[in-house]
Amino acid sequence: MVIDPGADAAKIVEQCQGLTVRHLCCTHGHRNHATAKEEVKLAVGGETALSLIDAKAYLRSADHYLNDGDRLPFGDFELEVISTPGHSPGSLCFKVGNHLFTGDTLLQGNLGRTDLPDVDVSRQLVSVLSRLLTFPENTVIYPGHGATTTVGQERRENVAVEMLRQAG
Ligand SMILES: [Zn+2]
Repeated sequence: MVIDPGADAAKIVEQCQGLTVRHLCCTHGHRNHATAKEEVKLAVGGETALSLIDAKAYLRSADHYLNDGDRLPFGDFELEVISTPGHSPGSLCFKVGNHLFTGDTLLQGNLGRTDLPDVDVSRQLVSVLSRLLTFPENTVIYPGHGATTTVGQERRENVAVEMLRQAG
């Protein structure tokens, strides 16, 4: 499973050596999360996937278009698709066991980048609160950028969540 092959295809291909790649999934259609998917696919195989909404919004294509609740099996695991619109209209997060891959929807301590024209911050915040921070405290979060964190840590320390709390 490759998540967000956004750049540096050679490095991703190198890390896939010795593995069978089944899926190349993008959390959203922004360039830095999707650009290298075809190049990596050519080298290592597997099927590309992203949300249909972002495929349309950013004119990208994939072998499969993902919906909320879809489950993609790989090895002994299963990746669950969670729809979290806001950072982009069709942003997704991916959950494997108690590991959560949040793309640009949630970073450690804050929301993902909110200064782009296509970001709907209030939708993004609703997605974070209703779809991500409802998982158990010990769920590990791997954001698209920066350090890893946990659901418990973000419930307590996330700036956006705190601002909302103060606003009542
Ligand atoms: Zn993005």
